[in-house]
Amino acid sequence: MLERLDDLDARALTEIRSASSHEELEAIRVRLLGKKGEVTLALKAVGTLPQEDRPRIGQRVNEIRNAIEAAIAQRKADLPRCVTGPSSAVDLTLPGRGRPIGRLHPITQTMERICGVFQAMGYKIAEGPEVELDYYNFEALNIPADHPARDMQDTFYVDHAVLLRTHTSPIQVRTMEKYPPPLRIVAPGKVYRCDSDVTHTPMFHQVEGLMVEDDVSFADLKGTLTTFIHEIFGTDTAVRFRPSFFPFTEPSAEVDIRCVMCRGEGCRVCSGTGWLEVLGAGMVHPAVFRHVGYDPEHVAGFAFGLGVERIAMLTYGIDDIRLFYENDLRFLKMF
Ligand SMILES: [Zn+2]
Repeated sequence: MLERLDDLDARALTEIRSASSHEELEAIRVRLLGKKGEVTLALKAVGTLPQEDRPRIGQRVNEIRNAIEAAIAQRKADLPRCVTGPSSAVDLTLPGRGRPIGRLHPITQTMERICGVFQAMGYKIAEGPEVELDYYNFEALNIPADHPARDMQDTFYVDHAVLLRTHTSPIQVRTMEKYPPPLRIVAPGKVYRCDSDVTHTPMFHQVEGLMVEDDVSFADLKGTLTTFIHEIFGTDTAVRFRPSFFPFTEPSAEVDIRCVMCRGEGCRVCSGTGWLEVLGAGMVHPAVFRHVGYDPEHVAGFAFGLGVERIAMLTYGIDDIRLFYENDLRFLKMF
């Protein structure tokens, strides 16, 4: 009897381990542990044995049953789920799973919108390198080495002659070097400054514009930028031009809009003034024209620049610039 049980034990465990599907495993289980299964019958047979053999044989049969149950559970877990039989076959009536679709970052969307307004006015897109020569970033824009305006921008230097551009203005110079007037370009791109808080990140985006013709005046500048602001913020947005200073334009102006948060009442965003600065602009300085070989006696032009993050924050009502770069999908999905 014990020999037969040992044989049953070995045979059962081998069969269970080599079962290749859940159906096969279930058939083995019924054959061994079912009502008329081998193990069940062996247990019943224990009752017919002589009194003194019953405990020993009974214990052995129970051992075998436990081992078989454990082996079946183990094999069940190891078999792949997809072959579990008709009850769990593929249900073709279920709706399909949607594929997540990416979308443009809110900064990219804002930049495209800004450029779109100027493209509609006949401006072409121009691009330039982010790692820039000191000459294009400063010298050619009328900011020599000892000029105090260099302190206005905290610059990341690669070495004494190479830096990460602090504005997209070098693209103006590179474009004018390559093409004769007239010119209408907008230059979007990343710029870098050593600065970080709720309204500044070390990398941000600018769109810079340049228009050069033989007869361009400050009135053209005002008209162009007012049209742009009305396109972005709505035609009822009040605009004002304030005198300012930039080394590469003369005269220079800063452009404010009536606060989009409080409509001019005064709030935290506009520091209680009712106005928000959105653009810097001015008539191109004659020294810049001379650097690129244009004759300032015969051409005139205006230039302007704006921060894309600032425009995005104002249009979407976002108060912390860092949200744009934390890559939190819950935030990015709102655009
Ligand atoms: Zn306000």
